[in-house]
Amino acid sequence: MDLSRIREDFPLIAGHPELVYLDSAATSQKPRRVLEALDRYYRELNANVHRGAYRLSVAATEAYEEARRRLARFLGAEEREIVFVRNTTEALNLVAYAWGLRNLKEGDEILVTEMEHHAGLVPWHLVAGLKGARIKAIPLTEEGRLDLSALDALLTERVKVVSLVHMSNVLGTINPVAEIAKKAKAAGALVVVDGAQSAPHLPVDVKALGVDFFALSGHKMLGPTGAGVLFGRYEVLEGMMPFLGGGEMIREVHVDRSTYAPPPGRFEAGTPPIAEAIALGEAAQYLMEVGMERVYAHDRALLDYALKRLAEVPDLRVYGPMGPDRGGVIPFTLGRLHPHDLATFLDGEGIAVRAGHHCAQPLHRKLGLAATARASFYLYNTFEEVDRFVEALLRIHTRYR
Ligand code: PLP
Repeated sequence: MDLSRIREDFPLIAGHPELVYLDSAATSQKPRRVLEALDRYYRELNANVHRGAYRLSVAATEAYEEARRRLARFLGAEEREIVFVRNTTEALNLVAYAWGLRNLKEGDEILVTEMEHHAGLVPWHLVAGLKGARIKAIPLTEEGRLDLSALDALLTERVKVVSLVHMSNVLGTINPVAEIAKKAKAAGALVVVDGAQSAPHLPVDVKALGVDFFALSGHKMLGPTGAGVLFGRYEVLEGMMPFLGGGEMIREVHVDRSTYAPPPGRFEAGTPPIAEAIALGEAAQYLMEVGMERVYAHDRALLDYALKRLAEVPDLRVYGPMGPDRGGVIPFTLGRLHPHDLATFLDGEGIAVRAGHHCAQPLHRKLGLAATARASFYLYNTFEEVDRFVEALLRIHTRYR
């Protein structure tokens, strides 16, 4: 991977050598090609999709559908299984409301994990509350992995949904989704995966994973905000009623009733985020050209180097599993410094990290912490930036211990 060329592709990175951006788990930087795709749509293609009989609208529709094809290739899915949404949060709400609300009943169980992002919990809380369903979780081991020894006992016939995160946004843990999905399917449960962190950083093949749903956010994988994807297995999508109703998603409408378009249109009510979806298609194309194996290998090399160097910082504690089942995310604390202060001090050194509960309060409760600081890597980060990060921590430790 030609790192200096990659960095040149990102205006905010190339234009700010003083900045060490270590917050890609929250949102990634954007390559020029993605920014140009957004701009080009408004300058050259701007028309609503799926409606116009005129050439401009046909061209806009073609660009939007090409983006769907790119995302299908990116995930190993079929085009008709790619639903454009705003983000992972909306994708998971879509599943909870459009599938859960109609299929769950009192006494049913939804199996989640203790490392979920709130987007993988709260939609189920809302729907389970309406239906009288119960939520239970696969517990974590001390190292921050799923305790799979508990899985068989948890997977009772009452479990109708297994909803889990592929890669933790706090610990970096990569969960064995294929293995869990196989057991969940055998137990008759629907499998829903939060791929917000895995899609940007790992090669993902939804068919090989054997899951029913897979959600991602474009803004975390080099795309713009406002466009994400819900992959849904076609047979499941086909059997579902819509989530949102309105224009575009119908077959026929009368004053008192309507019938619905086939998927994916059934789940894309109203004018979609056209420019954003097209730009997300460009982001997926960029990542496929670099190669997702390379992206992961780079994240992983940075992680290994960082973990080694961070051992030099006294009183620094890093959380999460130390094996190969981990992506480039490092949650940490430094002595008794509050993670928010730590992040502010690092900002003073030009280093952008996040601090807080990272929308994972149950996980932090489990760790016995109110908050952590978190550094996360992506394809544009360098080993030299890791050095700057570690050296800044050493200075902060000397100053504030
Ligand atoms: N799930 C995980 C694991 C995440 O890291 C995030 C974002 O931080 C989300 C879900 C929610 O993503 P979004 O805010 O883009 O909907």
